[in-house]
Amino acid sequence: MELVTGSTTLSRHHITTFQHSILEWFDHHGRKDLPWQQTPTSYRVWVSEIMLQQTQVSVVKNYYPNFMQHFPDITTLANAQQDEVLSLWSGLGYYSRARNLHKTAQIVRDECLGELPATLGELQALPGIGRSTAGAILSLAQQQPAAILDGNVKRVLARCFAIAGWPGKSSVLTQLWSLSEQLTSTVRPRDYNQAMMDLGAALCSRSKPDCRPCPLHRHCIACSQEQQHLYPGKKATKKLPHRHIKMLLIRDAAGRILLEKRPQTGIWAGLWSLPEATAERQAHTACHQLTGAQPQRIHTLEQRRHTFSHFHLHIQPVLMHLTKPAHRVMDSERLVWYKLDQLNSLGIAAPVMRLLKEIGEKT
Ligand code: SF4
Repeated sequence: MELVTGSTTLSRHHITTFQHSILEWFDHHGRKDLPWQQTPTSYRVWVSEIMLQQTQVSVVKNYYPNFMQHFPDITTLANAQQDEVLSLWSGLGYYSRARNLHKTAQIVRDECLGELPATLGELQALPGIGRSTAGAILSLAQQQPAAILDGNVKRVLARCFAIAGWPGKSSVLTQLWSLSEQLTSTVRPRDYNQAMMDLGAALCSRSKPDCRPCPLHRHCIACSQEQQHLYPGKKATKKLPHRHIKMLLIRDAAGRILLEKRPQTGIWAGLWSLPEATAERQAHTACHQLTGAQPQRIHTLEQRRHTFSHFHLHIQPVLMHLTKPAHRVMDSERLVWYKLDQLNSLGIAAPVMRLLKEIGEKT
């Protein structure tokens, strides 16, 4: 295989050799027993692909079977309540993925006779399905020669062909897509795409690529120049801003905690969380407004930090005990009293769940 620099047009010979190396490696070392590889329908592949965005295979393997057991087909998912979907997603994070999954299932039920479409354009028109996810559905489920470009594939291609720059930049992305499209096998698209993902995960890892057993090592530009660490290029780092909030753990005489549903937009949208105090609404006032009662005891707990992609959130938990019964009945759309041992049935953001579990263990 000859090296190609400064060009994304590959010769037929180059493409054939690359595909052959990858597929031969896949036949011996590729993953073939992942839960979503069994009966790979479009629905099953789609759910797995959405779960795998920003989440490791080892984590998804623990969530996927339970999710599929509850929602074995797209119509069952479409007919479920959003709360049910979010609760089964709890712990996977990035909840907009679950909300889009649910929304898309409803569109497919209502407008596509309950079947995911079979073309790139139609798939990409659905919420939460990008070009790579659409390519994965078509190739892994339907053996269509559609290219993919997830994080693993970007890394392998950027190193093999020494594509400089951060892959989030459109000029870099265009080059990587061009390579991926040229190299995707038309004969074994499912195996080829799975092989590229497996190779990226098993050998071409971010920090320690294992080049010796890699089927591409004799032909990989980054490897031959010992410059694997330069590819793919990194995004210029930006200093994240800090935000501070007080989260109120209002506990009634029966040991229940007051939860509040978050709005449908913004962080943790649609999930259950804890009421918050603000500069304008102090903790005491908030407690009285929400429950009609004043707390008898208050403890300020240790502060903790959660980092989102765009800011650091500093959470100051405040535990407030009510010894008298709350006057207001809160089981409404937005507020609910919940026992700590029942929390698993709700969609709750991971940092809030961690805090609640901590409180439960201490009492
Ligand atoms: S040779 Fe090394 S750097 Fe190149 S694709 Fe293989 S593992 Fe990655």
